[in-house]
Amino acid sequence: MSTTAVGEVLIDEPTLRQRVEELGEEISADYEGRELLLVGVLKGAVFFMADLMRQLSVPCEIDFMAISSYGEGTDSSGVVRILKDLDGNIEGRHVLVLEDIIDTGLTLSYLMRNLGAREPASLEVCALLVKHGRLESDVPVKYIGFEIPNKFVIGYGLDFAERYRNLPHVAVLREEP
Ligand code: 5GP
Repeated sequence: MSTTAVGEVLIDEPTLRQRVEELGEEISADYEGRELLLVGVLKGAVFFMADLMRQLSVPCEIDFMAISSYGEGTDSSGVVRILKDLDGNIEGRHVLVLEDIIDTGLTLSYLMRNLGAREPASLEVCALLVKHGRLESDVPVKYIGFEIPNKFVIGYGLDFAERYRNLPHVAVLREEP
């Protein structure tokens, strides 16, 4: 049986904080004069969302969706299921979807089609992490925190089998025999 451990730190706490501040400034400037609805994708985006929202100067509200992704493994199943839908109606709203990480983009592609059909006034994506060279879908991601190498990462909201979300930094998952 293999065990897991926290490996190399990819993005430390001060670097995360600095980038979230920058994203907050950029988004606040872009949405000036508008009201924003942040849609967090549970559970991983919660930590990023809480930090980013506190850097926004435009009026904003939050809502959440939960969709199935990898289950308990580290491979994309390609199967997407809505586990929890939004509480509110997004018709005519300016919606910014917050994702923790985009790998192939297949999950996001499904989500964007689903949300787009509800006729929001605008619909954009902000992802903390995007895996370099992995994107298979053509979903435009307007705001990106960091591009990272193709490794399975944990921390700052990201889990492996529901663990490690509480790490203050983003690290690589190390699997030990
Ligand atoms: P995609 O559909 O873009 O391939 O996968 C997106 C989802 O898979 C993310 O929202 C996240 O839940 C999960 N995921 C992808 N890569 C990683 C990773 O490196 N670490 C963790 N913890 N989850 C990941």
